[in-house]
Amino acid sequence: MKKSLSSEQQDRSVALSLRSVYRSFSEAHGILEILKGADLDLYEGDLVALVAPSGSGKSTLMHIAGLLEKPDSGEVYVGGRACGSLGDDDRTAIRRTEVGFVYQFHQLLPEFTALENIAMPQMINGLARKDAEERSRQLLKYMRLQDRETHRPSELSGGEQQRVAIARAVANAPRILLADEPTGNLDPKTSAYVFDALRALVKASGVAALLATHNMDLAAKMDRCITLQDGKVVELKRVPKAR
Ligand code: ADP
Ligand code: MG
Repeated sequence: MKKSLSSEQQDRSVALSLRSVYRSFSEAHGILEILKGADLDLYEGDLVALVAPSGSGKSTLMHIAGLLEKPDSGEVYVGGRACGSLGDDDRTAIRRTEVGFVYQFHQLLPEFTALENIAMPQMINGLARKDAEERSRQLLKYMRLQDRETHRPSELSGGEQQRVAIARAVANAPRILLADEPTGNLDPKTSAYVFDALRALVKASGVAALLATHNMDLAAKMDRCITLQDGKVVELKRVPKAR
């Protein structure tokens, strides 16, 4: 029998915690309350699916978790460090070193090669070009893209572009990987291939990954599955059946 989550997680550190996170938006007809006391713990090496209807606040939650946005109230802890009262410079520094993002559309830089796209964030972080390229080559190999080093994004397939985007997101060995519908734009077979590469990377690196998806087959392959209900994070005991 599978061990309970709590006993499994005792040995591992919490990479990300959200505590009582609130976020609302003003709109013409009043106030839109999206997150209403969301709590979440993500552990190292955890691969967690976030499955919830469109408009329920998945992206909002991820932007707050990744320090791109601030909650109205509540706290975000990255590696145990409270980030709410930090200034913009500190938040940016933590985001650069501790958080990797993957989006539905790869957002790779079109004029740069696959290798350069992965090396760039490392060089911005102060690594010498030679070392950044060395690590980028390893990541490309890991993503089974060693033959695509010098290809530009337009010369790669959708699945290849997303694998480069994943490699780029983990280039600085972040503590947390946030992927917002990363396979939303891909066919099922390519999605499964990209997901398997991502899963292998999560397990090898120990990064804590939160992945928003509508793909129930992928959600079923993850360690945990959560949803958003009435602005709160709810743990799903069982992954809902694909429709
Ligand atoms: P999901 O990713 O689950 O589809 P989002 O987090 O993108 O949901 O959005 C949740 C709700 O909040 C949506 O109704 C959206 O229109 C609204 N929303 C998101 N960001 C903003 C914003 N910056 N200003 C106003 N409303 C927003
Ligand atoms: Mg979204």
